[in-house]
Amino acid sequence: MNNILIILTGGTIAMKASGNTGVVPSPEFAVFLRQFPQLSSVAHVDVMDYLNVPSPYISPQMMFDLAKLIDLKIIDYDGVVVTHGTDTLEETAYLCDLVLTTRKPVVFTAAMRSGNDIGLDGPRNIIGAVRVASHHDSMDKGVLVVMNDEIHTARDVVKSDTGKVDAFISMGYGPIGNVDPDMVVYHRSTLYRESVWTDQLDTRVDLIKAVAGMNGKYIRCSMESAALAIVIEAFGRGNLPKSLVPDIEAAIAANILVVIASRTYTGRVLPEYGYEGGGKHLHGLGAILAGDMKGVKVRLKLMALFGKYHDADVVRRFFLQSLN
Ligand code: ASP
Repeated sequence: MNNILIILTGGTIAMKASGNTGVVPSPEFAVFLRQFPQLSSVAHVDVMDYLNVPSPYISPQMMFDLAKLIDLKIIDYDGVVVTHGTDTLEETAYLCDLVLTTRKPVVFTAAMRSGNDIGLDGPRNIIGAVRVASHHDSMDKGVLVVMNDEIHTARDVVKSDTGKVDAFISMGYGPIGNVDPDMVVYHRSTLYRESVWTDQLDTRVDLIKAVAGMNGKYIRCSMESAALAIVIEAFGRGNLPKSLVPDIEAAIAANILVVIASRTYTGRVLPEYGYEGGGKHLHGLGAILAGDMKGVKVRLKLMALFGKYHDADVVRRFFLQSLN
């Protein structure tokens, strides 16, 4: 049997409703896991009670510290499972995917339903995650996310629904595998992997979402707060109102990286539209187009790249070469 370490960080999976306080963190989850009979038939499991926080409290630095902990602890195990709140799970899993050096399986899981809900998904997800972490085919696949009997890559997964148990999807691509009752099945491979092995993050990276009729005030605010990079979730193929162009030009002139992602759910941004503010125009001004990557993940990647390389031109080159 494989040796698996489960690292607890909190989230709904470790919460219960208590009186009229709503759903809040509970210390009982770690106790429950240590006595969970079905786990011992899947793997030798140790439980590390690392944190018990709602995931909206998790910062990039906390994600990074978790990654360092995983790299250290996994030396003594065959794989690691991390339990986490669903709200920022896709961000923590992705940052870990970038900075971890291990090739062993690292699997994130969570729950959409808290401890006193009917039809609990947490225990099932834990069993699924431990089975995936114990599986030889999970080696070298980067950080995986197991929810609702599906296996997703950290790069592609998003929380797509506020309440349903099938909230986690890989938009446009689908899961890479399934946790079936009899076996773990992978049905496609992860063609696209990237790593940024860094000792630190530089968190001076902002994310702005485009909305109709906006002006450049958030860009100016980022510049005033000494941002190194500004990620903009633009419309469609990567287009913005022309009212933003002067501030984008000013940011680029100040050697701030301006990176354009799309607020649209799937597809790549491209230098297609040549009108003022269109993706081709922004690209011509020196903005970087982020391929199919979503804004929240672009932001984290730039934090890792700036933490490693410090210099905007070097970060630009590494960022561009890693796009598909
Ligand atoms: N608010 C919770 C959290 O992210 C939601 C969850 O875990 O599902 O911690």
